[in-house]
Amino acid sequence: MAQRHETDIVVVGAGPVGLFQVFEAGMLDMRCHVVDTLDAIGGQCVALYPEKPIYDIPGYPVIEAGDLIRRLERQAAPFGPVYHLGQQVVALEGEAGAFTARTSSGTAISCKAVVIAAGCGAFGPNRPPLAGIEAFEESGAVAYLVARKEDHRGKKAVIAGGGDSAVDWALGLHGVCETIAVVHRRDRFRAAPESVRRLRALADAGEVELVVPYQLHALEGENGALSAVVVADLDGARRRLEADLLLPFYGLRMELGPIAGWGLNLEKNLVAVDPATSRTSAPGVHAVGDIAAYPGKLKLILSGFSETAMAAHDIHDLVHPGKPLRFEYSTTRGVPGI
Ligand SMILES: Cc1cc2nc3c(=O)[nH]c(=O)nc-3n(C[C@H](O)[C@H](O)[C@H](O)COP(=O)(O)OP(=O)(O)OC[C@H]3O[C@@H](n4cnc5c(N)ncnc54)[C@H](O)[C@@H]3O)c2cc1C
Repeated sequence: MAQRHETDIVVVGAGPVGLFQVFEAGMLDMRCHVVDTLDAIGGQCVALYPEKPIYDIPGYPVIEAGDLIRRLERQAAPFGPVYHLGQQVVALEGEAGAFTARTSSGTAISCKAVVIAAGCGAFGPNRPPLAGIEAFEESGAVAYLVARKEDHRGKKAVIAGGGDSAVDWALGLHGVCETIAVVHRRDRFRAAPESVRRLRALADAGEVELVVPYQLHALEGENGALSAVVVADLDGARRRLEADLLLPFYGLRMELGPIAGWGLNLEKNLVAVDPATSRTSAPGVHAVGDIAAYPGKLKLILSGFSETAMAAHDIHDLVHPGKPLRFEYSTTRGVPGI
């Protein structure tokens, strides 16, 4: 049933940066509703690499991506964010101080300001064009991310691709899967040199098979249970790899989606912002995190965090007109309930 809500700020996207936006807004007495197309919060961190260690979050020498999201959720919780998951923000109407964000589920949220923290937009994996792949996707025999390594213990895995994800997961699933074959259309991998060196060492030791230069050709199996992956070389010669799991890592399909139609200045499919304030070209609409483009932008979680603080300070006057904003450290201001 269609629902109506009212809040100070609608945050579009519940990735790490959207979550931290809730905290920064909350510290300045502004409440948020957060909408995400995915069924869970966490953006790329949860959808793509929940068990991977991140090494460049200040204060954490190493932290798994899923753990970072749990901590960000906890940090935002005192400010009572309302999450609307499994729905996309499809339309933005109105003007600064009086917007309505509408979602694909018919939810309408009135708000004074909007922060777009939509990462690379609506994202999804590039799927290999293999006949009948849908049935194997449904059963989980073909998957585009590894949520829990343990789910794949003892499996015969074929990993397809030549980038960081393919190489990292071949290394990460070694010792978990019974066999691992890495299929790539050339013998050169586009991944971190140290990871490629480790992969080749495992291949030399007979622990991982490098199936190069080959491409995915067909899937064999019944009722969603995969039994083999057929690969072909450039001359069409085929090989049959026994497998009950296929992990294709062909990168992400990124689409700005409905945001492209909101009349904002765009830059190469990203939203152009003023780096001092995170303002977009539309008054009352800010953008932070991976989706925000400005000269020198680094698509890092830590850059996104800092952008949320600037956006919150810039939005304050719109949400609390006439109320002076004094810059305060969190140590001075404190957090409710903590
Ligand atoms: C394998 C991998 C490893 C990485 N390692 C690191 C690392 O070590 N250090 C680092 O700093 N960064 C790393 N990154 C990058 C990091 O994950 C991103 O910089 C970060 O996720 C960006 O956060 P975000 O909140 O801006 O966007 P995202 O995490 O992309 O989240 C955006 C969310 O917005 C949602 N969305 C989009 N459009 C809409 C809409 N219209 N309505 C509703 N919801 C919408 C999406 O569903 C998504 O959940 C890595 C990325 C990958 C893929």
